Amino acid sequence: MLLKKCPECKSYTLEEFCKKCKTKAKDAHYKFLKLRDAPKSDPEHFQR
Ligand SMILES: [Zn+2]
Repeated sequence: MLLKKCPECKSYTLEEFCKKCKTKAKDAHYKFLKLRDAPKSDPEHFQR
């Protein structure tokens, strides 16, 4: 599942475009990679 984040309203979405402002959502994958490097990364976090 690919999580995206709208740069305008800062809300996360799974759609290609934000439902609220129709802005093209940016890939939020970098955040997952960052969390994976964190010592307290919890796999259950990603299943929400
Ligand atoms: Zn938006």
